[in-house]
Order: sequence, then structure tokens, then C-alpha cells
Amino acid sequence: MIITLKKGADKKKIDAVITRIKSLKYKPHVSQGADLTVIGMIGERAERYREMFEAMDVVDHISEIEKPYKLASREFKKDNSVIRISKGVEIGGNKIVVMAGPCAIESLQNSLLTASLVKNAGATMFRGGAFKPRSSPYAFQGHGEKALKYLAAVKKKLGLATISEAMAVNHVSLVAKYCDVIQIGARNVQNYDLLKEAGRQRKPVLLKRGMATTLKELLLSAEYIMAQGNYNVILCERGIRTFEDSTRNTLDLNAVPVLKKLSHLPVVVDPSHGIGIREHVATMAKAAVAAGADGLIIEVHPNPEEALSDGPQSLLPAQFAAMMDELRLIAEAVGREI
Ligand code: PEP
Ligand code: MN
Repeated sequence: MIITLKKGADKKKIDAVITRIKSLKYKPHVSQGADLTVIGMIGERAERYREMFEAMDVVDHISEIEKPYKLASREFKKDNSVIRISKGVEIGGNKIVVMAGPCAIESLQNSLLTASLVKNAGATMFRGGAFKPRSSPYAFQGHGEKALKYLAAVKKKLGLATISEAMAVNHVSLVAKYCDVIQIGARNVQNYDLLKEAGRQRKPVLLKRGMATTLKELLLSAEYIMAQGNYNVILCERGIRTFEDSTRNTLDLNAVPVLKKLSHLPVVVDPSHGIGIREHVATMAKAAVAAGADGLIIEVHPNPEEALSDGPQSLLPAQFAAMMDELRLIAEAVGREI
């Protein structure tokens, strides 16, 4: 249930509610708005304590959240969540965040080159996989921790925030040590142990929709992370599997307005995996911005023909720069900036 406190409730009174929730062995989830404090008391049969809280003077009212995902829902938090990623970079506000870089981190030199090119074109974050979930066990699996060190070097040298994928529970602390955002990939969206581990730390998590995940299931996966106390979750639409086989996936842009209606969490679109064809990536990126995406994650490689993974969908740096110029116009048309 959701406990809404009276306007202007002071810290002492807020703490009294939190202490009571803890004493009943529930975890309080506090959302502090401009003048309203809302506390989620979520868990089995929490409603049986309703009257006990209604009796507290500081409590304004108590409501139930109908949706099975609670903390992720708009009912819990009316305002959009703005998530701080690193110094000067946040997502969920007016500015659209563009994350760009190779599918997989290959070498330090290649990372620095790609990162400086995407930075010059206006990207604020650098992406690149250290642990790669490849369909074939014989395909390149990623350089692991060495690649994470390259990502840290990119951040140090160029000041770009970084994102990389954690595929297993033991990757979470490792990726968190070197990067600003932990990506959980499409194949792991329902790996509940991984989600819980990502929830136990506080770095933002970009959670990708699975190939056959409904939006409700995606939000329930976000809830797994948030239930552990990490509210810094970014949702990502990256295309779903349909009967259509002329594109790699079907980018479901319906997800953007629908997720934004159901949830306060920022929504990012990945047109690279969504369509999987280089020449169409920019078109779908523009469509995503028009649809209201808070960010984009785009694969860029200086020499896609030699990329160790996902070359066919990677933009050349010049194509990325041209796309950014067009995106600025679309962003302006929908009242956003890039
Ligand atoms: C990726 O971003 O490189 C990736 C593997 O994405 P997805 O999990 O969406 O397939
Ligand atoms: Mn990829």
C-alpha cells in the first residue's frame, strides 16, 4: 500500500512512519516529491496494517496500487523520474541522452577513437559490451574485465559516461566498479537473480525488453530491481520477435507512449538491434524521438566490416553525426533537446 503523508511533513514525522514500517518487517520505499512524501509499504498482506497507519497524525491518506508492479507504476510516482547517471548527465528530463559506441569493446585504441567521434557528434554516453551474449558459443564473447578497464579509460580521458552489460550475478559489481550504468540485456530480462543483484547496488540499470516480453513483464522485471531499493531503472525497447523476417527484430515504438503512461521511469530506444539494418537505423531513431523516448542507444563502429559483433547494424561515425543533426530538429519539434 501507499502511504501519502500530509503536505510539508517534517523529517521527524517521516522517520516515525519509516521506523514503524521497519518494525513490522517491511521495507519502506520513500518517494520525496516537491512538497509531498509518499512511502510505499509493499509486501505480502501489508494492507492488514492500514488502520495502524491511518491513525498516525502525519498520514494524509492510504491507497492501494492496482498494478502488479508497484514502485515502477505511475500510481506510485506521478512525476517522471529523472535519474542521475554521472556528473552533468541525467536521463528522464527534457534533454534526450544519446549513448553510442560499438556493440563490443575491442581495443583501447578503437574505443578511444570511436568515443571521441561520437562525443564530437553530440553523444553524452559511450556504450560497449565487455561480456557479450552471443547466439553462437563460437562467436566473440567479449574481452571481460579488460574491456571494462578500457571503458573506464574512455571516461577518464573524454569525460563520457559509460554503459556496459552484466550477464551474470558476479558481473554486476564488476561492471558497477568501472561503468556508470549497468545494462541488463534482452536475454536476461527475466533472470531474477541478476535483477535482484542489480537492485542491491545503486548504479543506474538500463533494463532491455526481451524478445518476447510483454510491457507488463518488463515492468515486473524493473520492479525486481526497485524492490531491492535501487530506483534508478531505465527501461529500453530494443525490438521484439515477430513473424516479420525482413528486419532483425520489430522495433515496437508503441512501447514508448505506453510505458510512459504506465510508469514514471525513463524510456530508451535501441534502433540498432530493433531493426538491425544500418541504413534504417537513423530513420527509426528519429521515430523514437518523435514518439517521446528519453534516450537512444546506438551502435557505431569506425570500420563496421571488421567489427567483432553486429557490424551490419553499426553506423559509421559520419552517419552517426548526420543522424544527430536530424535528431536535433525532431527533438526541437517535440519540445525536447539533445
Ligand atoms: C547489446 O546492446 O549489445 C545487446 C546485446 O543488446 P540486446 O540485449 O538488446 O540484444
Ligand atoms: Mn549488439
